Amino acid sequence: MILDKAKFSDFIANYPLYKNAIIEVEPTFTPKHLEGLGFTFSCSCQKDPVTVILRFSDKISMNLSNVFSSNSMLEFIENGEFLFVERLIGQCLLCKNDVFHLLLKLNSKLDDIGDQLGINFCKIGQYPSYSIKPDNYIQKTISSESLDFYKKALLNISASFGLGALAYFRRVFENEVRAILNEFLKGSSDEMVVKQDIEDAIKANKMDKFIESAYERAPLQLKEFGQNPLKLAYNIASKGIHSETDGVCLKNAADLKFLLDFIFKVIYDEKNTINPIKEIIKKHS
Ligand SMILES: [Zn+2]
Repeated sequence: MILDKAKFSDFIANYPLYKNAIIEVEPTFTPKHLEGLGFTFSCSCQKDPVTVILRFSDKISMNLSNVFSSNSMLEFIENGEFLFVERLIGQCLLCKNDVFHLLLKLNSKLDDIGDQLGINFCKIGQYPSYSIKPDNYIQKTISSESLDFYKKALLNISASFGLGALAYFRRVFENEVRAILNEFLKGSSDEMVVKQDIEDAIKANKMDKFIESAYERAPLQLKEFGQNPLKLAYNIASKGIHSETDGVCLKNAADLKFLLDFIFKVIYDEKNTINPIKEIIKKHS
């Protein structure tokens, strides 16, 4: 493998603008090896991810002509620095539409490389912007207001605005916690009593109690870690905003997104699969 493809795929799919990814490459690597590289990505033609193939834009950059006349990356770095800006297009293998355009900066200094050859990849332009379309199950699970905040959080991530992303995800969490608990409470004998407790907790701004109640009644999937993911999400959302650096907030925003996505997926599955099965069992037993 000419470059660490898993890392490169993760970089293409998940990295926001201006965030560096150091990707391991073979000594013979040049940017021309990106041409024809295939990996899974989402395309509007299919519900599930499809294979997308990279190609260089028809407008070949000046650097590229040099790339094709050269034999290896080592030739470039002999001069001290390896630096390219390349325009790449991802094309869906099924519908043949162009799924994204990227402007990538690839660079490495000889003394950065050491024994392991690695290139610093960075997106300096991307169209359409980094996945601001939340997954289907998220769109179907959260309120329209929360969905709006969720998209804005993704936009902030796409520009590496950590503080903004974390603040928006925090609002998504706060908005949705009530709905999450209501979902878990459905059908329980003390539903009305607990509902009142929840309302009181919200009024008194005592989210901790609220979150514990939700966890007690959460589906098993949420409990298998031995830790309360709702509490963890709340802690991540709360701790960074007032003190951490933008970079730390960006990392926390990514963690919070992961937790929220998981919680929403559990709720979506519960509504669409688990509960209907419970109904069928009840009907036939
Ligand atoms: Zn397609």
